[in-house]
Amino acid sequence: MERLVKGYQSFRADGYAHQKELYEELGLHGQHPDIMLIGCADSRVDPTDIFHAYPGQMFVARNVANLIPPDDLGDDYCCTMAAVEYAVSVIGVDMIVVMGHESCGGIAGCVSGLGRQPEGGYVNKWLSQINHVHDRLVETGIADNEMQEAMELESVRQSLRNLMTYDFIQERVESGALTLQGAYFSIVKAELKLADDTGEFKLVEPDG
Ligand SMILES: [Zn+2]
Repeated sequence: MERLVKGYQSFRADGYAHQKELYEELGLHGQHPDIMLIGCADSRVDPTDIFHAYPGQMFVARNVANLIPPDDLGDDYCCTMAAVEYAVSVIGVDMIVVMGHESCGGIAGCVSGLGRQPEGGYVNKWLSQINHVHDRLVETGIADNEMQEAMELESVRQSLRNLMTYDFIQERVESGALTLQGAYFSIVKAELKLADDTGEFKLVEPDG
């Protein structure tokens, strides 16, 4: 509790002190972010830190392993899509970013087989939705020591494909009103990669 209170007091003295008018504006007139980001719940990959976003700039939803379930998976998995639907249909964001990351515990869990025992708990059931991504990579004959990163990248691509299974997303993408973007963050070096049109992840220069 003390950590929370100290953190809040530090925010009031520092970040908030410089953004008081912004908070008032946002509180009184609502949010109008252009970008939605789906990230992992992992405490090391805070999207607003990585993209240096101010309050009101980025609509963020985070879950274990930054996954988007496909439309046909059923209502058990609708939580993340509630956030996507709100961001797209109500707020009107023009970009959705799915950001994976290095050393993802959720991905490691899937690789180690947690998703093969979906009755084992909420995490297991959640991860079972990407068992097929793991199967696909196993079939390529990929080396064990390359599986983790390959899964982290491929699950982002899969989530982007899954977004396109929803009619309201597909319609907006095809009309040009919405762009889908894959991203990947390496924690140790704080490096960002963005996916190109072919799904290949390319390093972003850290100096602008
Ligand atoms: Zn993660």
